[in-house]
Amino acid sequence: MEKTLTIALSGNPNSGKTTIFNSLTGTRQKVGNWPGVTVEKKEGSITKFGRLLNIIDLPGTYSLTPFSIEEIVARKYILDENPDVVIDIIDTSNLERSLYLATQLRELDRCKVIFALNMADLAKTRGLKINGEKLAELLDVPVIFTIGNKSQGLDELIQKAIDLADAPAKPLLRGVKYNRDIEAAIQTLQTMILEKTEGLLNYSPRWTAIKLLEDDNIIKETLLEKLGVTGGDEILRETETARKHLMNRFDEDPEIIMTDERYGFIAGVIKEVFTASARQRVDISRNIDLVLTNRFVGFPIFIFFIWLMFQTTFSIGQFPMDWIDGGIRFFTGILENFLPESILKDLLVNGIIAGVGSVIVFLPNILILFFFIALFEDTGYMSRAAFLMDKIMHLIGLHGKSFIPMIIGFGCNVPAVMAARTLESEKDRILTILITPFMSCSARLPIYIVLAGTFFGVHAGSVIFGIYLTGIVLSIFTGRLFRSTLLKGADAPFVMELPPYRVPMVKSLLIHMWDRGKIFLRKMGGIILVGSVVIWALSSFPNTEPSGASGIDPIQRMENSYMGQIGKIISPVFEPIGIDWRGGVALLSGFVAKEIVVSTMGVLYAGENDESDALKKALLVSGMTPLSALAMMVFVLLYVPCLATMAAIKRETSLKWTLFSITYSTGLAWFMAFVVYQGGSLAGLG
Ligand code: GDP
Ligand code: MG
Repeated sequence: MEKTLTIALSGNPNSGKTTIFNSLTGTRQKVGNWPGVTVEKKEGSITKFGRLLNIIDLPGTYSLTPFSIEEIVARKYILDENPDVVIDIIDTSNLERSLYLATQLRELDRCKVIFALNMADLAKTRGLKINGEKLAELLDVPVIFTIGNKSQGLDELIQKAIDLADAPAKPLLRGVKYNRDIEAAIQTLQTMILEKTEGLLNYSPRWTAIKLLEDDNIIKETLLEKLGVTGGDEILRETETARKHLMNRFDEDPEIIMTDERYGFIAGVIKEVFTASARQRVDISRNIDLVLTNRFVGFPIFIFFIWLMFQTTFSIGQFPMDWIDGGIRFFTGILENFLPESILKDLLVNGIIAGVGSVIVFLPNILILFFFIALFEDTGYMSRAAFLMDKIMHLIGLHGKSFIPMIIGFGCNVPAVMAARTLESEKDRILTILITPFMSCSARLPIYIVLAGTFFGVHAGSVIFGIYLTGIVLSIFTGRLFRSTLLKGADAPFVMELPPYRVPMVKSLLIHMWDRGKIFLRKMGGIILVGSVVIWALSSFPNTEPSGASGIDPIQRMENSYMGQIGKIISPVFEPIGIDWRGGVALLSGFVAKEIVVSTMGVLYAGENDESDALKKALLVSGMTPLSALAMMVFVLLYVPCLATMAAIKRETSLKWTLFSITYSTGLAWFMAFVVYQGGSLAGLG
């Protein structure tokens, strides 16, 4: 019997490798780890066309440049284990991206390669046409179209692999050609390598030369190991000379030049083999992306969109807000007039209606905010935002993918914390969860609207925008801090996918918006109702006289209540940040849910005054200044979001991290509010 053939499957993540591997090997699989690392290794032995085949599922990679463990493992396997054939599984519907790995595999010139153009069905439905023959010719490689999940084309693929394995090896004729200077350097090194290694190193000399010029440490070490210090050193010295020369010539690392030229080569290949009947849509998307993800204007545009979102939320939301407010006052008026004076009436009017009513008026704002988030998601702009943030996220050692939970956090922190599940690394997940609560959720919006609206007039929208921005900046700072201390680790390279832009369906937008609005309304009937009653009770007792009775100053009465007593106890904590005891109590109630803060403020500041804009007027005479309002907003932005978020963090991490998160965020909130208030006072802004 002929010898067993080893066939390795390589490809980008999600190109369908495992699907094809499973389809080929069925149940005859062995799952283990690659030596020394926790990357999964799958192997299976089968008999096909009378041949024994050993099939290996290599880790999914985007390149063979040894950045990540996956790339190191895959490259090492191909270089040192010498499989008979490597099948590169290519996602045909994403050809451009897949070709980088494919080109590197060819350049490696170490093994016989076949391209499986997988996802052929998807490419077809998307109207993408790939000229397989042309591709085979250009890269000098057999090309087979496959549909992995329907096992189509796999027999042909294996047949081709066996044929190729049996055929004599032939030198690589086509592939990337670099510019004159680089090619000259490759020539010199290649000749030298050929002379010195004489069978000691069985990698392709050209490829080895290229890697040396790219300053590839693994190859340098291998060279020293195989040739000994004297032989290896000579080559490495020559490499250094060549690299210096190229660096002077191009003012750029040779590795970067070579990567660029490889991409240039790929762009050329694509032009030759690719036609798209649905090209138009892709082109439109591409043109939009030229602007929206542009290096210079992309980010300002993104900031502008977010600013517009808050501005609109604030300004358009004002109208329905006034109607709801009018309705509530009308209703309160009726109750006032028709119910007899009693504690029950007080509970109903000043507890429940005042509390729940003061929050429900923000329903329009929250719906508008969710409408925008749905709009960003459905049009495809959300992935662009993540893409734009990728660079910034890398500053904190996370990739753009972590930004999606953060954007969701603008709506509500609970799903945002849960969305971090999609991150593979535990450290990435914890880090993302720790910084997500600084994304200001919609429940905090009413507080900003009240405070900014009262103290900053026409600039309210911009102030609120500034608060959100502060949250983002502090989350970046926090990420950076923890990445370099508690949660050390390197970020993995990751390619953001940019789906084509779509015109969103109005229906889908409305459903999204309403789904989240419903959650808000449900909270009204639950936690906020209970909270309002508790706050009312704490502020009404102990109380010897019924509400409305004359004689006792209402402010005096409030200060005597349980609430006032609690307020007195905690006031030393809030005094340095410019917040009086009433504000302090309101913030305390916010540990349960942020919506309660406004209703508590309503009870504590406005008391029984229920004319329109009562809270606003009361705040203006309460001694609060624009500066202390700003400090309060900063505090609200940063301190622990709410019970539900704490529970979510506990579920996704551990009690230890939850306590850590609570302590850190509340501490930071106090510190930042202190800086704002005291700093502003010193600067004479108070
Ligand atoms: P891997 O990361 O390369 O191992 O990719 P998987 O084998 O896990 O496949 C990713 C997804 O693509 C799975 O949901 C497969 O069912 C799907 N898939 C694989 N091959 C094809 C194909 O040819 N056409 C389509 N439409 N889907 C495929
Ligand atoms: Mg897989």
